[in-house]
Order: sequence, then structure tokens, then C-alpha cells
Amino acid sequence: MTNKLKFQTRAVHAGETPDPVTGASAPNIVMSTTFAVDADLGFSVEANDDNGSGEPEYIYTRWANPTLNQLEKKLSSLEEAADCVVFGSGMAAISGLFFSCLKAGDHLVMSDIVYAGASELANDTLPNMGIDVTRVNMSDLDEVTAAMTSKTKLVYAESPCNPIMRLTNLVAVAEIAHSHGAKLAVDSTFATPVATIPITLGADYVIHSLTKYFGGHGDAIGGAVLSNDAEEMARLRQGLLVHGGGVLSPFNAWLIMRGMATLPLRMEAHQRAALSVAEFLEAHPKIEQVTYPGLASHPQHDLAQEQMHNSSGMLTFRVKDGPAAARVFAEKLGVFHYAVSLGHHRSLIFYMPTDSLLETSFKLTPKQEEDYRRYMGDGSFRVSIGIEDPVDLCEDLAQALAQF
Ligand SMILES: *Cc1c(COP(=O)(O)O)cnc(C)c1O
Repeated sequence: MTNKLKFQTRAVHAGETPDPVTGASAPNIVMSTTFAVDADLGFSVEANDDNGSGEPEYIYTRWANPTLNQLEKKLSSLEEAADCVVFGSGMAAISGLFFSCLKAGDHLVMSDIVYAGASELANDTLPNMGIDVTRVNMSDLDEVTAAMTSKTKLVYAESPCNPIMRLTNLVAVAEIAHSHGAKLAVDSTFATPVATIPITLGADYVIHSLTKYFGGHGDAIGGAVLSNDAEEMARLRQGLLVHGGGVLSPFNAWLIMRGMATLPLRMEAHQRAALSVAEFLEAHPKIEQVTYPGLASHPQHDLAQEQMHNSSGMLTFRVKDGPAAARVFAEKLGVFHYAVSLGHHRSLIFYMPTDSLLETSFKLTPKQEEDYRRYMGDGSFRVSIGIEDPVDLCEDLAQALAQF
């Protein structure tokens, strides 16, 4: 029923109903780790038979929990997916999907630039499990096609990708994956479903770090995998949640659901403030380059306009002496916090030095490195614009830029 409602209405209502016992309008947090059942594992409490099957829905929270189920329903509704499994972090969701979909002898085609943790997982851990990984520039469709083999089971992309803000043409990459019998997984953390709904563009799996825009307030870590493939999702839930054990805390799920009600409103504010800051920076004499999908200067601005209905709040910029600027920013910025992470109501800024990131996280071919440096130079600031007034954000950056 709620799927017929508009996006903002579903952000508020999907997955939630007044409590049947008390009538509480806001969702209760069910922190209970265990649930009363009878000796045959039938229900002993009437309320614990929501599906009318005579089987209890809830036995133990690592298997299923009412608050986690509410969050899964809300996420499914916004991402237009049939099913969702939530995890204790974004990385637990990513590793869960890899370990569930891939086995020894399989081949993974992965974007050369993705979230550093996912990149390190693919470089350092997957090969030890006998999984072959080829890293490609996902914006180069010929490179993607050339990497596909008969063993390729999964193609893994981000759009926009962390940290360089390069986009992936999801319709085109889904077509390449499917024509080679592989599935496409998209980490859509930077876009959120306000900007892009990957499943409607052909993606088979959508991944989120709920820690970022969904939670939106920097106070709860969580992750999710969404898909229409019921069999694969059942395997993921059993193998990597029930057995893998990466369960999300119901309290975090409740915080994330509460954040989600305002996701569309916040994304509007993030986009508006980010565009103001991006334009301010682009006109500033000390700034060498700004990369933001909402600016006409973004190398894939046309694709951004087609694929993103909101430009999000993430941008990068470069100055001549990045390390010196990083020291000044960390000390002198008053509104921004100098910190990693993103998608919060507070604005965050962090310096990403190219050489050390290439060393620890991204192992690139010379051609891929050239493309990385086209976006990031020797190092760039990654900025997550919050929902503060952009006038204050620009003034804060202006006074810090004047000090070096
Ligand atoms: C932060 C992030 C992750 C990891 O999420 P955690 O919740 O920190 O584990 C994965 N992908 C992207 C794009 C991210 O920004």
C-alpha cells in the first residue's frame, strides 16, 4: 500500500504503523535480544505471529527483530527493491554481499576507485579466498567490457565514487554485466535514492552505508543490501547475517529510521548549500579545481543531469599546497569539522593525499593513476556539505583560505 505513495510520504511512513498494543504513534525500539515462544518454537505470545503462519516471526534478534524489520521495509520502499538486509555497518554489508555472491574461482570486476575500505577488501582479502579481481575505470565502458570473462559473477560500482566524484553510467554498465551473465552491485551511498534509484536503472544489488545520508546525523553506524532477487537475499540473510553475525543494533536502526523521515528535505538542503559552496570555491583565486556533479565544469555533468535528480552534498577541491592548507583548515575552520565520514547535518572536510592513498588503498595501473590525478591532483579536500546556511560555510572557508 505505502509503495503507491510519493517518495517524501514513504520516507515518513513506510515500514511504520502505530503500535498495536499501546497505539504509540512513533515506533517503539525493540531492544529485546530474545522473544517468548512455546516449546515447539510456535508462538506463545499472540503479537508474535504477525504473518499468521503459527510460526513465531521473532526468536532471537540476530535472526530477526521488529525494529530491524521496520527499517528494512522503509529502505526497500525508498530503493524500490523487494527485499533488504541490514547490517552492523556499510563494510559488513559490502563484505556480506561479496562473501555471499562469490566463491573460489569466481571473478569480480570492480571500479578502480571506490570507498577505501571496499578497495582494500578487494585488494587484500578476496584474492586469498581464490576470488579473482580486475579493477577498471567504470566510466570507460570499453575497459569494463574488456575485463569481463566467463567467470565474472559480479560487477561492483559506485556512483558518484568516493572520493573523486566520478560517475558510473549505471544503465550502460548493467547492460554490459547482464550480457556477460554477471550481476551489477552499486554502492549508492553518495547518491541516496533521492538522487538515483539504481534498481530502476538495471542494478541487481544496491548497497548503502546507512552511517551517512540515511542516518544523517553522524550518530549511528549501519549498512544495507537491497535486491529484487529473493533467493540471493535469503542466502545473504542466512549465511552472512545469521551465521556471519554482523547484526545491526535496534537502537541504531531506530535512529536511522528517524533520520530517514527527513532524508528528502535534508538532500534538498545539502544540494542547495553544496552548489553555493562549489560556486564560491570555483571563483576563489586560491582554488585550483572544484569537482561537484552539480557544476557545469564536472567532466560528466551531462550524465549527472540525466542520472542524478539531486547533486548531493559531496564535493572535492584542490589548492596549491594541500598539506599546508590541511593544517590551517584543521585549526582555523570554525563551522566545519576537520573529520572523515560524510552525509551528516554538520559540514565535514578532510584532506586526501594522493600518494599515500594510492599506496594503501588503490593499486592503479599507470593509465588509471593518470585519471585519478586528473580529478585529485597530488591531493584534494573531500567536503561533505551539511545543512547549515551556506553563507556561514562560505565565510568560514574564506577566513581560513585567507590564513595561508
Ligand atoms: C562510509 C562508506 C562505506 C562504509 O560504511 P561504514 O558504515 O563506515 O562501514 C561504504 N561505502 C561508501 C561509499 C562510504 O562512503
